[in-house]
Amino acid sequence: MTTKPPVEKPTPERPGETPAQVAEAAAHIELAQASTRQIYAELLRRIGEDPARDGLLRTPQRMEKSMAFLTQGYTQTVGEVLHDALFDVDYDEMVIVRDIEFYSQCEHHLLPFFGKAHVAYLPQGKVVGLSKVARIVDVFARRLQVQERLTRQIADAIEDAIHPQGVGVVLEAQHLCMMMRGVEKQSSHTVTSAMLGVFKSQAQTRTEFLSLIDHARRG
Ligand SMILES: [Zn+2]
Repeated sequence: MTTKPPVEKPTPERPGETPAQVAEAAAHIELAQASTRQIYAELLRRIGEDPARDGLLRTPQRMEKSMAFLTQGYTQTVGEVLHDALFDVDYDEMVIVRDIEFYSQCEHHLLPFFGKAHVAYLPQGKVVGLSKVARIVDVFARRLQVQERLTRQIADAIEDAIHPQGVGVVLEAQHLCMMMRGVEKQSSHTVTSAMLGVFKSQAQTRTEFLSLIDHARRG
């Protein structure tokens, strides 16, 4: 489904740059000096569009803004999100937040993958404000991702923040890079999970979590 990479040109035997390499280096310097909008305009040109036509005039600007929003997780930390939302509790039942909508971009094609996250933990003296669980998901979803790593990062973040007895995270997602290119049936979901602590060591805890989200899924 992917196009072959261009054939590598043989490198010249003597050290020093060929004219082609010099030209390429110069192109890189220009690229580094170009604004993000200029780069997006060039991208439009290269796919065969005319960035000067009416409908596209402000598109590079919109692309820049939208990409900044969709990748704002790089400028955020879990610490900032949670700074005033950790609470001491005398409670040790499972806390579960189901059906957290998320939108991310695959790092291989920069196409969206999106779906639902289900996050659970068994506290050990501390809990996280419920709305903050969804914020943690966004901190990592709004970066270039693979679904497995996103799942694991959410689990690790909860673990680091409150050191619970265990954490379970399940993500169900649809990947546009597979759907739009016809690699996968339209309706298929990719499911990933990360289980830490008692969610890993105790089958009973894991089963309770999975049956709770399964119940939610069937309505
Ligand atoms: Zn992809």
